[in-house]
Amino acid sequence: MLWESSISTDKILGAGVTIIGPVNQDEGIALHPFRLFEQAIPIKQYFEEEFPFRTAVESNVCAYLLSELLYTNIAATAQNILMLKWGPGVGSAMAIRGQVYKGYNYQSTEIGHNQITEKNGKKCNCGRTGCLEPSISADAIVEFIQKNTISSPAGELARLMETIGAPSRGNLSQYLDGASDSCVLWSFLTTCAHALASVTNNAIHILAPDKLVLMGDLFEHDSITRLFTEQLYQINPMLPPDLCIKNQPFSDKKYIGATAIAVSQLLLPL
Ligand SMILES: [Zn+2]
Repeated sequence: MLWESSISTDKILGAGVTIIGPVNQDEGIALHPFRLFEQAIPIKQYFEEEFPFRTAVESNVCAYLLSELLYTNIAATAQNILMLKWGPGVGSAMAIRGQVYKGYNYQSTEIGHNQITEKNGKKCNCGRTGCLEPSISADAIVEFIQKNTISSPAGELARLMETIGAPSRGNLSQYLDGASDSCVLWSFLTTCAHALASVTNNAIHILAPDKLVLMGDLFEHDSITRLFTEQLYQINPMLPPDLCIKNQPFSDKKYIGATAIAVSQLLLPL
């Protein structure tokens, strides 16, 4: 990328790399980048062997949360923030008193890996069975659409497929925008939103955040955000009415998390 853009490496102050799974941000090691690699990967070391600039590494949702703390004024009113990312998987991170929280062995909050079924659950990317994530991920929604188009060839989703094409992560948004309120897809999404709201409510009881920040491809649809918050308040009407916010300003800047960790780890300490 640098080569193609003719950017000389001596003009670069540092790089930020964000990745799925837990990360030891002190040494820049991806501890378990699910599905990409099965073992720990020393990303910082690899980058710094190849490039003359320093590299910061962090889990993607922790990095997004840091960008929220660095580039918005949220910390003026909320010091304890739970971030929830829906799409393609389910990610989360927590800031306590304005600091991104990491616990045992650099683990952060993992709402997506709450156990929701004891038996016959789906296999999760983390290697366990019965986690929330595989039941409500973008892939699970795509799979639901695929199955429905086969079982109901004259149904609304099958008709949508004629114009949109076979469902995939890439065109899932078109299905969400195209499906009518009465479409069977919305009853499935309500089940997904309820399951996510249920474990999020449990996390809220344990972590007591001032704000719940919603982000990710699915929450970019207002109808999905509405569905989720309705389910959350149905489960727990005692929650403060202004608890949920969307991280709207950065939804089109996918690199903002990587920028935030590079600034925070490499530049601010100088
Ligand atoms: Zn899992």
